[in-house]
Amino acid sequence: MVDVNDRSAESVCLSARRRRRFGARSLRMFLVGAAVVSVCLAGILVFHSTPAARRRANQTRDSQTETSKIQYLIRGEANDERGYLLSGDPMFLADFTDKQGLLEVQIGLLVDHAPATVRAAVAAGLPDYRAFLSDHAQVIALFQSGERVGATALALGHDRQSRKSAEAAFAVAATEVVSAANRATGEQNGLTDLAGVGVIVLGLGLLLVAAESVRRLAKQQRDGAALRDSERHLRMLVDHAPLAVYAVDLDGVVTAWNTVASSMFGWSEAEAMGRMLPFVAAEDRGEFAQLRAEAVAGRHLDGWETTRRHRDGSVIDVSISTAPVLDDTGQVIGIIGITADITGRKRTEVELESHRRNDQQLASIVAASADAIMSTSLDGTITSWNVGAEAMFGHRAIDIIGQPVSMLGRPRDHGEQAHLIDRALNRQSLIGKEMIAVRTGGMEFPAAITTSPILNSANVVVGLSCVIRDITVQKALEATLERRAFHDELTGLPNRLLFVDRLTDAIPHLGQSTGLVAVLFIDIDQFKVINDSLGHLEGDRILIMVAERLRAEVRPGDTVARFGGDEFAVLCEDLDDDADALMIAERIQHAGATPFSLNGRDHHVTLSTGIAIARSADASPSDLLRDADAAMYAAKDAGRSCSIVFAESMRKRALRRLDVEISLRRAITHGEFRLHYQPIVNLRTGRVDGVEALVRWQHPIDGLLLPSEFIGIAEETGLIVPLGEWVLGEACRQARDWHADPDLAHLTVSVNLSGCQIAEPDIVAVVTNILDQTGLCPSRLVLEITESVLMRDATRSITVINALKTLGISLSVDDFGTGYSSLSYLKKFRVDILKIDKSFVDGIGVDHDDDSIIAATINLARSLRLATIAEGVETADQVTALTALGCDKAQGYHFGCAQPANEIIDALHTPRRSTIATPSANLYTGN
Ligand code: C2E
Ligand code: CA
Ligand code: CA
Repeated sequence: MVDVNDRSAESVCLSARRRRRFGARSLRMFLVGAAVVSVCLAGILVFHSTPAARRRANQTRDSQTETSKIQYLIRGEANDERGYLLSGDPMFLADFTDKQGLLEVQIGLLVDHAPATVRAAVAAGLPDYRAFLSDHAQVIALFQSGERVGATALALGHDRQSRKSAEAAFAVAATEVVSAANRATGEQNGLTDLAGVGVIVLGLGLLLVAAESVRRLAKQQRDGAALRDSERHLRMLVDHAPLAVYAVDLDGVVTAWNTVASSMFGWSEAEAMGRMLPFVAAEDRGEFAQLRAEAVAGRHLDGWETTRRHRDGSVIDVSISTAPVLDDTGQVIGIIGITADITGRKRTEVELESHRRNDQQLASIVAASADAIMSTSLDGTITSWNVGAEAMFGHRAIDIIGQPVSMLGRPRDHGEQAHLIDRALNRQSLIGKEMIAVRTGGMEFPAAITTSPILNSANVVVGLSCVIRDITVQKALEATLERRAFHDELTGLPNRLLFVDRLTDAIPHLGQSTGLVAVLFIDIDQFKVINDSLGHLEGDRILIMVAERLRAEVRPGDTVARFGGDEFAVLCEDLDDDADALMIAERIQHAGATPFSLNGRDHHVTLSTGIAIARSADASPSDLLRDADAAMYAAKDAGRSCSIVFAESMRKRALRRLDVEISLRRAITHGEFRLHYQPIVNLRTGRVDGVEALVRWQHPIDGLLLPSEFIGIAEETGLIVPLGEWVLGEACRQARDWHADPDLAHLTVSVNLSGCQIAEPDIVAVVTNILDQTGLCPSRLVLEITESVLMRDATRSITVINALKTLGISLSVDDFGTGYSSLSYLKKFRVDILKIDKSFVDGIGVDHDDDSIIAATINLARSLRLATIAEGVETADQVTALTALGCDKAQGYHFGCAQPANEIIDALHTPRRSTIATPSANLYTGN
């Protein structure tokens, strides 16, 4: 192989040699020169005219090797009269055999995407390349069996008779190659540059024919024959080249113009000849100076990409190669230009680039996606697997590709998987189908699957692409949201929404084979007090425990719901009668009565339950709830801790309750409350020792209301706190007034404290302030706290009592005997007075038990140094009995009911000696 380092120098050298041999026959000179140069340039040009080739052209060493091969052929230095030409990428092969001076040419073209195996075989010397070349079908089959078949074509140029027919045959073959290549590349969706392929093939054809011509001309030079033939053939060759070939003199005036130049630029040969650079736009004329300078310097220009102007004004993208034209003396007299129209290629390049960028983006999206992206063939074999799929399923691509897709799902879902493939076959896509996927180790997870069919170039479905999203988090969130929408967060019980839903479902079945439906409305008595005294956290714990107990008391099919706060509801179905519902309510009541243990302390809670019963299928869920609610309030009014079945009369009371709550708020700001005072009489002296302040509501419409009408609501709504504060202030102020009278200076005033007030953190400060403001002597103030409030949070009670005691005030246990306290437990509270509840007083002389209880209480009180006051004393007999038992004081209608301050004033001065029995010495000493 000849080592030629300088392509242009070599070409010039060839030209010069030819010039000396062919003398002054300028036309032939041009034609031969043009042919040879065009061959060289075409070869070069084509290397520059496909993107891949252009890349190579930049690699000088490769480029030089290609050139040396071309020249090796041109100069016919293949001594064995056979040779082949290989070029890199795109790869093309030519095999030629010189048969008695006639050249047989076979050309094979392997385009960009030829299979690696073929490329490797070719690169390794292609031991049986001839077999490829001689068997067109085999080559094609071989290429097409590859993964990415590019354009393939094989052209055979045979001439066994004459050079003429060889050229003609070659021209036909070359055209076939071009169109075959075009077809092939067309099928590849424009992956290969059509123009580039065509040019390669034809360029190569020219190259080989030119080589042949040169050889023939060299042979014929000696006998001078056939020169004219040669000239004609060359002219034909130049004219049929797919390139515009033309020559201009150094001023740019056209001196030669082939037919392609005519069609490319729009000027016929006759029009173009003698014209100044007709195809160069006026503003581009500067370029010519550059080209001219190159030519004068004897240099070639290869594959220079620029634009030219068509006669109609349109712009053509072109690739130009130029070479200098020399006269006999070697002087540069003009320039040969060879121009390829690359407009189409440019467009394709832009499209390709955009495709490539899209592909790249797509590839990076697929790679970076957290979703699993995979594909399968129609038989369900996995054919691709992205990184996201590796992470999601735990299978590596290398392991899973080729495996059945069924291994990604549960066996019972295989039918569905098959269905997905069927859908794909019907060209149907599927978006976000939720299925259970299985990762390594058999772990299942919920997934949303989006599938679409994969089509091949012939638009036939060949597989299925799948995007799989792990929706574990989404599903969990959905479940949470649903749970939250229908359940109470604290207890996990169904909420009102779900309860009403189930109630609505249950009612229509009534009157069929099933029994009655009951709604139990349960409210924790004075829960606000618990909450305020223990704190919300502990209050919540009690709610949770109540929920658990309710759940335990009903059948599995029954619904226990929490409506919020301390309100619970139970839905029981299939009951025989009202008694069934009451029995359940009793069980619930009983379950609630067991103390709730929190931080080692017991807390007592009672429940009030209202029951509404649906008896027919036309009952309305909202009416049932309303009735159960009314019944629950009736239970509260009946003293709490009980269950009541709804009756029509309750509806009015329920409505009234609502009304009270609204007007209570107004009453506080409008000062509608009054205090009445009930005397507390000393049984020993008969003197009124003190009064109990009892609140009344002077309702603008309903008149004077008793505490039973509003205290409960005031406690539940917390309005009792401001109300109680007012009562305390007013009572203290009134007592201070009375004390101005020296006869009444001994008078104590007793004020009831609600559990809510005790739970207020600033209760002690509030009392201190009021004492300060009113100037009442603390020893004249008695605060009454009911036994049940004391016991509810004994620790808190002890703290508050101790603090109040240090102020110098007295404490009294109200309603003693109705709460839960053991008598010995009383020692813990530093109280001063026990008020024996009216229910025991009522039994005096009637119920022996009550007599004993009162006697025991009085004895205990004495041992604890507590005074006793009997409440609700209505008869003289009761007074006598109580006095006999050693009770210290009494209050009740027998002595006087509660009255406004101005009305009671006289009674306060009047000693009631007549009603006072002579104290028994025995009782007083306890003997
Ligand atoms: P309580 O503290 O046990 O007050 C005694 C209640 O018994 C008063 O009812 C009183 O009028 C009534 N009573 C007195 N003597 C007799 C009698 O001989 N026979 C009968 N049948 N009843 C008698 P009232 O005034 O309706 O008060 C009811 C309850 O309301 C009180 O019971 C007390 O717990 C509460 N209360 C009244 N005023 C206040 C207040 O200012 N603050 C708070 N927190 N509660 C109050
Ligand atoms: Ca009281
Ligand atoms: Ca009482």
